[in-house]
Amino acid sequence: SMRGKPVDIEPSRLTVTKTTSPKELPPSKSLIFGETFSDHMLRIPWTDATGWGAPSIVPFSTINLCPGTTMLHYAQSLFEGMKAYRHADDTVTLFRPEMNMKRMNTSAQRLLLPTFSSSALIECIKALIAVDRRWIPKEPGHSLYIRPTLIATNSTLAIAPPKEALLFVIACPVGPYYPQGFKPVPLYGTTEYTRAAPKGIGGYKLAANYGPCTLAQKCAANWGYTQNLWLHGPEHWLTEAGVMNLFVVIKDSGGVTELITPPLNGMILPGVTRDSVLALARNHVSGVKRLGGFPDVIKVSERPINMGEIIQSSKEGRLVELFGTGTAAIITPVERIGYNGGDVMIPTGEDGMGPVSRPLWTELVGIQMGAVKSDWNHVV
Ligand code: PMP
Repeated sequence: SMRGKPVDIEPSRLTVTKTTSPKELPPSKSLIFGETFSDHMLRIPWTDATGWGAPSIVPFSTINLCPGTTMLHYAQSLFEGMKAYRHADDTVTLFRPEMNMKRMNTSAQRLLLPTFSSSALIECIKALIAVDRRWIPKEPGHSLYIRPTLIATNSTLAIAPPKEALLFVIACPVGPYYPQGFKPVPLYGTTEYTRAAPKGIGGYKLAANYGPCTLAQKCAANWGYTQNLWLHGPEHWLTEAGVMNLFVVIKDSGGVTELITPPLNGMILPGVTRDSVLALARNHVSGVKRLGGFPDVIKVSERPINMGEIIQSSKEGRLVELFGTGTAAIITPVERIGYNGGDVMIPTGEDGMGPVSRPLWTELVGIQMGAVKSDWNHVV
């Protein structure tokens, strides 16, 4: 067939239809993660024959899908999670949105869903945030959580590449992910279930990765743990903590501090926060930008680490700290790991954060809330 170049997302075609019944803003204190939605949403349809259609910002509303929609049966569905922050001077910024767009395109390729220009979608998302600007809370630790989603919408029970799709973006005002603040959390080391396997889909942000993990999370919660820690294989390699990437800090016998995170081996989601923490730590090491209070001599490693090494370093008093990273909670310190019927204790600082996580958190949140200048911020 003589099909032309597929049409990309075109921000110049964006139309805006504002709601005639704007909702009352909820008090920031009452916000529960993901349960309050802003007034509008962005929609961009796609078909195999015509490419991306015109983007539209419309009042937040339900989506009609035929019960035969392929995505309801075979999970051709993917999503992203990013945040818009309101600075003290009322500037609104997105944090490294091009990273989310890159990951979204990678997820789309994995499901044979359509890809798109990152900058074009960022422009449309900025327009949505501008329309719903009043929904961005101002309090420290608060933000507008943005949820871009892409689903296959054609109706067929045949398992085949999607012929029609819908990209939509919704937004939720959110407060701190863990209302208890920096109270370090206990993790349950899960060995009964696996989240990801080599050459599987763990490295993509696909809907199919999340539903099945809820059971492991519930088991961990039943036993009094906040999240579960995914341990891979008989060697119990640490991979991720619930829906966070994982960092471990260990001192070697020579007294050098090592900041360790498992490598992107296909079983780990390439987190934007993970990448940012690595970049900040490496910039400290190279002298590009020193972090106040950070250990002087620190080695940054993307390498495998298993429970054996955690236990060994704990016994030898060399375990410094362990923390999770993610857009929702930024940095979450861990106080212990339920493992083999007992608990492996992790040192935590006086205020909950340790000597490595504290300066990283200060820098990251400083950037996101505008106190620290950075080209990671995209002004809306
Ligand atoms: N791992 C998983 C499985 C996740 O769902 C998330 C949240 N997107 C992360 C890690 C953290 O990624 P990010 O820093 O991009 O939020």
